[in-house]
Amino acid sequence: MPAPTRLIILGPPGAGKGTQAARIAERLSIPAISTGDIFRSNIKNETELGLKVKDILASGGYVPDEVTNEIVEDRLSWDDATHGFLLDGYPRTSGQVEALDAMLAKHGHALDAVIELVVDEDAVVGRLLKRAEIEGRADDTEEVIRERQAIYRKETAPLAAHYQLAGLLVQVDGMGEVDEVTDRVIAALPQH
Ligand code: ADP
Repeated sequence: MPAPTRLIILGPPGAGKGTQAARIAERLSIPAISTGDIFRSNIKNETELGLKVKDILASGGYVPDEVTNEIVEDRLSWDDATHGFLLDGYPRTSGQVEALDAMLAKHGHALDAVIELVVDEDAVVGRLLKRAEIEGRADDTEEVIRERQAIYRKETAPLAAHYQLAGLLVQVDGMGEVDEVTDRVIAALPQH
């Protein structure tokens, strides 16, 4: 049985969280769980949840905590997450931090580490504008990108300090080649 690995990846929009999350999760044989991906697939499939969050995502704002917490609690109850997971894009607010702590405590679990991808803001805005041309995401216009960066700075960046106090924060330089960054993250994770 593999050692449990319960991880979070933090970083501003455009830091490469989604890309790194998939690679790190594969190396550690745990699922990468992206709240953004869950919302986008619900929007695509026009589910009730999708209809509820569509305009919020398009504006760059955050989905209300109650909605987000519920989908995460449900996703963490799946069998594949029993021995670990890598959360990408959650928690993003202090209310979500508390909710996640409560969800884990209920099962006697705790986080092992919180990875923060540290990147240069001008560089990430450039990356997102490039992604806009390729993927055409509704929230990748320059105005919405700026809004997402501002909300991240205000709401989510402070969570790193919280996890640092808890002794869980692992800061990793997120600039450079994709492979290089993955190797840096794996090397920086605490060993079991
Ligand atoms: P990025 O990191 O590039 O902003 P994500 O795919 O993580 O992209 O998130 C896209 C959007 O989905 C966010 O701007 C927000 O509207 C919504 N979202 C994702 N995760 C959360 C969350 N934990 N809480 C609230 N809203 C969220």
